[in-house]
Amino acid sequence: MHSLDAFATAKLDALAAESLRRDLVYTARDAGVVVERGGRRYLSFSCNDYLNLSHHPAVLAAAQEAIARYGIGSGASRLVTGNHPLYGELEERLARLKGAEAACVFGSGYLTNTGVIPALAGADDMIVIDELAHACLFAGARMSGAAVHVFRHNDLAHAEELLAAHRGGHRHALVLTDGVFSMDGDLAPLPALGRLAKAQDAWLMADDAHGIGVLAGGRGSTYAFDEPADVPLQMGTLSKAIGGYGGYLCASRSVVDLMKSRARTLVYSTGLPPPVVAAAIAAIDLIEADPGMAEGPVAKARLFARRVGLPDPQSPIVPVVVGESEAALAASRMLAEAGYLVVAIRPPTVPPGTARLRLTFTPAHSDEDIERLADLIRDRILGTVS
Ligand SMILES: *Cc1c(COP(=O)(O)O)cnc(C)c1O
Repeated sequence: MHSLDAFATAKLDALAAESLRRDLVYTARDAGVVVERGGRRYLSFSCNDYLNLSHHPAVLAAAQEAIARYGIGSGASRLVTGNHPLYGELEERLARLKGAEAACVFGSGYLTNTGVIPALAGADDMIVIDELAHACLFAGARMSGAAVHVFRHNDLAHAEELLAAHRGGHRHALVLTDGVFSMDGDLAPLPALGRLAKAQDAWLMADDAHGIGVLAGGRGSTYAFDEPADVPLQMGTLSKAIGGYGGYLCASRSVVDLMKSRARTLVYSTGLPPPVVAAAIAAIDLIEADPGMAEGPVAKARLFARRVGLPDPQSPIVPVVVGESEAALAASRMLAEAGYLVVAIRPPTVPPGTARLRLTFTPAHSDEDIERLADLIRDRILGTVS
């Protein structure tokens, strides 16, 4: 065997032995939360399309109109000829929604974090980051070359201790966290983190991938508290509640202008397709026109959690931790037999020993289905977990 294939095969075998091998499954999503896999239809509790905007008629119409007018591809990096006029409108709309001076749209959320962080921090700088922050915040932190210090999940005292111990030796400091934690659904204490960062002349960046569109009337986690948090770097994605694809940073005008010169993932990557940008604008129109719409997903998550006997969720994400990877896979298979698609989440996406079912809710899930699923999970999964 070629050494390359021997390497790949050995790696795959090792992953399979730990129930950590992953394979792609074709999944056709139709208008709502019903998906088709392997010739069977399921009710999905695993999509991040919280408001079902990926299939909303107004969003589709906006995308179709943009294709007719501008074509499917943007043709080049935004700095060359890929900066079609729809970008200006989307960035204005995002800045307004987030209460920021300006916004900058990137190819995806992952590209936003891996572009923004290295543009702001380098070898002379330090980063403190929550241990459960998303993989792409860690990727950006590592790519920056800054000294990275990890604080215990949502532990303000630990973050403060790390800043106090190391801040003096560095030119700049960044504090990185998810606003809504993607695998746990809890919120970061953003107002307190904002004060802590400011006191140490550190720059707080919060990843609102799971907050925009669903918290605080759609404005996201920065606004989900009694007082708006002081978050000078608000990033997020257009691929979850916004229903399409792309990422963004909302910040001051000068920071946004700097990204256009220095964020490598913006400079050296092709601009988003025009229909994708048009779809995001249409989705924001819908969210702003009906602030009550944003409350739907969390209300459904609460209904589920109460029925199972789990703590009240703060977001549309509810984890059901079962422990070992094999147990999570078995639980997912059992639910699939009952017609529910609930994907198992395993290490390294979550810490070892905390493999789980991660459920997400949308207004398109009926109360009856949520109750039936909750009863199955309570009686057949949690009932057997020690
Ligand atoms: C999904 C996600 C991302 C990545 O966004 P994409 O647009 O899918 O690349 C970033 N951060 C968090 C917290 C996420 O959940």
